[in-house]
Amino acid sequence: MAQQFQDRFERKFYYLRLSVTDVCNFKCTYCLPDGYQPSGQRNSSFITLPEIKRVVHAFANCGTSKVRITGGEPTLRKDFTDIIDVVAQTPGIEKVATTTNGYRMEKQVGEWREAGLTHINVSVDSLDPRMFHQITGQNRFHQVMAGIDRAFEVGYQQVKVNVVLMKHLNHQELPQFLQWIKQRPIQLRFIELMQTGEMDDLFNQHHVSGTSIRNFLIANGWILKARGHNDGPAQVFVHADYQGEIGLIMPYEKHFCESCNRLRISAMGKLHLCLFGEEGVELRDLMQADEQQYALIQRIQSHLQTKSVSHFLHDGNTGMTPHLASIGG
Ligand code: SAM
Ligand code: SF4
Repeated sequence: MAQQFQDRFERKFYYLRLSVTDVCNFKCTYCLPDGYQPSGQRNSSFITLPEIKRVVHAFANCGTSKVRITGGEPTLRKDFTDIIDVVAQTPGIEKVATTTNGYRMEKQVGEWREAGLTHINVSVDSLDPRMFHQITGQNRFHQVMAGIDRAFEVGYQQVKVNVVLMKHLNHQELPQFLQWIKQRPIQLRFIELMQTGEMDDLFNQHHVSGTSIRNFLIANGWILKARGHNDGPAQVFVHADYQGEIGLIMPYEKHFCESCNRLRISAMGKLHLCLFGEEGVELRDLMQADEQQYALIQRIQSHLQTKSVSHFLHDGNTGMTPHLASIGG
C-alpha cells in the first residue's frame, strides 16, 4: 500500500464519496428547486467507467476502504450497475454504498446487490405522501417505499434513510418516524439543512438544529453507539425497544470537522477536500492511463496538505458549492 492519505491535522481518510453525475430527476427544495439545469459547458461529460476504476484504485491504494457512489441521482447513469461492480472489485474496498432518491430501487436493487453494493441510503423527507411531493417535487412516495421493501426482500439487513430536517415541514413528524422504525431495521438519519450558495430564504425559514431531537432521544433511553473508522459523520443512537436506529448529522456543531475521514470526487473528476468552500482540484488528466497511478496519488497527497481544519459553516460560510447535487452531498 502507498502511504495512507492523511492531512496536516493527522486526520486519516478512509472514505471516498464519488459523484458520478450531476443530473437529477427530483426537484428537492433545498437542493435543485428548479430541477437539474445543464451547465451548458461544451465537451462536459461525467467521469467514465475506466476513469472511475483508476481513481478508486488510487484511493484504495492509500487506505480507503469505503466508497459511496452518489450524485445528482447516481442511479440515472445507464452504467450504474457496472460502476458498482468496478468499485466492488477494487482490492481493499470493503464497503460499497450509494445514496439514492429511490426512484429506481424497486426495479433494480436486486441487480445492484448482486454487483456488490453492500450499503444503501435512500432519501425520504416525509412519511406523508403530500409533504414528500411538496419537498421533492415528485409524487413518488409509494414508489420509494416499495423500493425500501424490495431492498429487504433481496437481502439487505439494514437500509439507511436520510431525512433533511426542516422546521414547519417535517420537523413535527418525529413520532411517525419513530413508529415507522420500531419494527423495521432502518437507520433513520436526520440531516441538518445546510446552507449552500444558491439558497435564499429557505435556510432562514427552515433550518433547525438536531439538538432538540438528540435531547429527546437521550431523555427517552436512546444510547449513543461507538463510531467505526470508516463510518460517516452521523451520531447513531440505539434503543432496546426499537429495531431501527436514529442517526443525527449535525454539521453546524462545533467539533464536526475534527472527525472528518472523507474526501470527495465530483462527477467532473475534481478532488474536493470538503463539501464546502473550494473549487476542486483537477484530477481527470491523471485518470487516463494505469501508468499514471503514482502521479495521481502524488497530486491527491499534495493537495490534501491544504485541507482546512474546518468548513466554518457556523460563521456563515457557504463557500463555492451552489447546491449539494454538484458534488454529491
Ligand atoms: N440524489 C440522491 C439523494 O437525494 O439521496 C443523492 C444525492 S443528494 C445531494 C445526497 C444527500 O444530500 C441527500 O440525502 C439529500 O437529502 C442531502 N442534501 C441535499 N441538499 C442538502 C442540503 N442543502 N442540506 C442538507 N442535506 C442536503
Ligand atoms: Fe436530486 Fe438528491 Fe438533490 Fe433531491 S437531494 S434534488 S434527489 S440530487
